[in-house]
Amino acid sequence: MSKNFVMLTFDLEEFDIAEEYGQKVSHTDQMNVTKIGTERLMALLNKYNLRATFFTTGNYARLNPELIKTISLKHEIASHALYHSSFHQFKETDILESKSILENITGEKVTGFRMPRLRPFNYKVLAGWGFVYDSSINPTYIPGRYNLLHKSPLPYLENGLLELPCSTTPVLRFPLFWLAFKNLPISLYTALCRRTLRKRKNLMLYFHPWEFAEIGAFKMPRYVKSPDGKILADKLDKLIQNLKKLDAEFVTCQEFCKSLENADQTPGFN
Ligand SMILES: [Zn+2]
Repeated sequence: MSKNFVMLTFDLEEFDIAEEYGQKVSHTDQMNVTKIGTERLMALLNKYNLRATFFTTGNYARLNPELIKTISLKHEIASHALYHSSFHQFKETDILESKSILENITGEKVTGFRMPRLRPFNYKVLAGWGFVYDSSINPTYIPGRYNLLHKSPLPYLENGLLELPCSTTPVLRFPLFWLAFKNLPISLYTALCRRTLRKRKNLMLYFHPWEFAEIGAFKMPRYVKSPDGKILADKLDKLIQNLKKLDAEFVTCQEFCKSLENADQTPGFN
């Protein structure tokens, strides 16, 4: 019988989301918010001795090398491009530069990538640059952002790269991303996770460390910033407890890729 896997993933980046809503946030504040949230999150993951995957930007890592090194001792570090803010013009080679920054800091091979804001980009370059997997596809419809209902909700091999889509529920493709976790009651979110895991055999969930800092004072819509801080960390604690009751193993994305390769059952593998 094939195993079920849960991947907890975190996009560790500059706290720049308030700028999308027109509020300027100083560089120091961006870093501090992320730092507070990251520390709270690490304490929670340690409590359950869980390993997770952190997608981080080259810029964030360059400014916080010790934090990235510390995280890498226990967790997987993957690339989230070079800069997060849309004010920085994205270049394809940013991906390669971020990989090299992260590898220099951690001393480990970086094999995973997730594009900031899951924006479209040229996936074909990744395999040639030593990436094994990408996780930039949320195969659902988010009004005003993207419509990826034509994409597979299951992992697949394309252009020499494993695509690990963010989890969506069976049939309706309701996205189990950070906003769903934040806004749905924990019992409902858990039930959707359970159903998805049963059907798809894996859960790819993603959140941001800055969500676990106190961000209520920033000018953002309520559904983006609330609940936050300790209350949201307690909600994640509850989710972890609920997921641990399911017949599933918590793994990093790299470990999940290895399990797929060993099972040799991913569409496109043969
Ligand atoms: Zn991000």
